[in-house]
Amino acid sequence: MRVLLLGGTADARALAELLQGEGIDFLSTLAGRVARPRLPVGEVRIGGFGGVPGLQEFLAEEGIDAVVDATHPFAAGMSRNAVEACAAAQVPLLRLERPGWGAAPGADAWHWVEDHDEAATVAAGLGSRPFLTVGRQSLDRFTGPLATAYALVRVVDAPDVELPDTWTLLPSRGPYTLDSERALLRDHGADVLVTKDSGGTWTWPKMAAADELGVPIVVVRRASASADVSSVAEPGEVLPWLNQFSQLSRLAGGQ
Ligand code: NAP
Repeated sequence: MRVLLLGGTADARALAELLQGEGIDFLSTLAGRVARPRLPVGEVRIGGFGGVPGLQEFLAEEGIDAVVDATHPFAAGMSRNAVEACAAAQVPLLRLERPGWGAAPGADAWHWVEDHDEAATVAAGLGSRPFLTVGRQSLDRFTGPLATAYALVRVVDAPDVELPDTWTLLPSRGPYTLDSERALLRDHGADVLVTKDSGGTWTWPKMAAADELGVPIVVVRRASASADVSSVAEPGEVLPWLNQFSQLSRLAGGQ
């Protein structure tokens, strides 16, 4: 069986290692947004498919038997396309998504918002020295409301939008430690942290550091997941799901 792994996350890379270890034939794909992406082990293809029709065609051309969507919880477009293309092509789809931080210690005290526009407005009301960790693609939503703030903006690659003169750009890539996040928040004199509900442990230290320093946290909620797709939280849970299809295909092949 051949598996398509929609990647771009630490969980997707962990899953690629598991699949390789199991000797499963798989192909990872990345959007190509980042100039020097962290590559998973195994075969990798970089670039979009060309929407739902492109993905459908790709599934057929590559002989894909199952798809695992391990993209970031905020990569909603890719996940939507995967649901539609897999349904049309009758290819089984599993979502691998780490749980959000809603149940984390201190989460009740955070400022939960529906989108980046609301995050920008709420952050502007909370402080004047925000630490923005929302990714470069969302920064245009913050430049207006935080035009006069002294924002520290951490991104992997420089954004396309022009940033206010008072903002400081910090090109950097995690993971980070609690000590380094605490030092960063202190050095900037951050009075509010803005983040997406990415979940997992990869970017958790900034949350712990902000909580520890009493810095308010603004968290952009995730869009609700598609109810039509089975979902697991850990890379290891993907293997039993795939196993059922390889058993079925062995049965179909009379082995
Ligand atoms: P998006 O808005 O959901 O996707 C936009 C388009 O990019 C998709 O329609 C698809 O193009 C292409 N694409 C996205 N993920 C792909 C993948 N894994 N393989 C092949 N094509 C892909 O996604 P995004 O928010 O720009 O994120 C892009 C990538 O960065 C994702 O893979 C995600 O896992 C990773 N990432 C995103 C975030 C975030 O906060 N959004 C954070 C960390 C990592 P076509 O329509 O042409 O197929």
